[in-house]
Amino acid sequence: MRRVFGVLVAALAMVSPVGAAEWSLALHGGAGVIERGQYAPGEEAAIRRALGDALADGQAILERGGSAVDAVEAVVMALEADPHFNAGVGAALTSAGTAELDAAIMDGATRRAAAVTGVTTTRSPVALARKLMATGPHVFLAGVAADGFGRAHGLAQVENGHFITPARRRMLDEMQKGGATAGFDLHLRFGTVGAVARDRAGNLAAATSTGGLTGKAPGRIGDTPIIGAGTVAENGACAVSATGSGEIFIRARAAGQICDRIRFGRQSAKAAAEAVIADIGALGGDGGVIVLDARGRVVFAMNAPGMYRASVTAGGRPSVKIFADE
Ligand code: ASP
Repeated sequence: MRRVFGVLVAALAMVSPVGAAEWSLALHGGAGVIERGQYAPGEEAAIRRALGDALADGQAILERGGSAVDAVEAVVMALEADPHFNAGVGAALTSAGTAELDAAIMDGATRRAAAVTGVTTTRSPVALARKLMATGPHVFLAGVAADGFGRAHGLAQVENGHFITPARRRMLDEMQKGGATAGFDLHLRFGTVGAVARDRAGNLAAATSTGGLTGKAPGRIGDTPIIGAGTVAENGACAVSATGSGEIFIRARAAGQICDRIRFGRQSAKAAAEAVIADIGALGGDGGVIVLDARGRVVFAMNAPGMYRASVTAGGRPSVKIFADE
């Protein structure tokens, strides 16, 4: 199966037309087993609408000359608030039935970055990461300290139950009944959200937010909040947001490896993304990445059957896709 997906990688990497984009934006809503016919009536349309609406939020910011950082934060906040995705409301649950949320954001112009992990009460983990990036001096806060920082800076706080949906509770129950290993069943793993953008000033940014893997151990940290694994942005190189088997993305240094291949290896974003997805596959992992190169060209690459994704570039039409063969 994995070999089949590996062969598909080349066909699934899509690149926007050559030439520097005035601005561009791409998002993902997670990768995994996403197949035609699996949705309840109206659900597929609702997911497409949610992806399109989040894209429009970021597009509006970039069109009026706003920053790439503002755009990726707005896109990820919109997806966090939507229960269809594994971030914020609708997050995958730990083996203890709680939501522990991870998020990261990076500004490619300054290479300022920040991340939070084990967030349990701050309504928007990506807004928390953004606040930490703005205030410094730390780049990574965990657990009660991260939520405490959010509270001290006036970010909205909620009960942990705010993030927990019946669908995610069912997934955890099914997993625990079946004795499956946390999140390594692709059917249980999709919905992490992320965005990459290039603004009119040519600056890149990336942001990612997740509940992690269904049935993960409390305290487990995935790739999402690790700068250079699940999230990275570096002007002159690329911006990346990843989704997939986090342990493998960390070991592959996925996002950083893509930018290094582009910057130092002089590879195209498409070649770099495909090589790293192949590397992930070789290590036994699955997932996908969204990549923008320095000129704002968009690449999606994956070795999973589907990835919620959308993109738009100045002067172009928004595109929203779910299945691998779209
Ligand atoms: N990468 C995320 C994690 O391992 C999960 C996902 O993207 O589905 O936490």
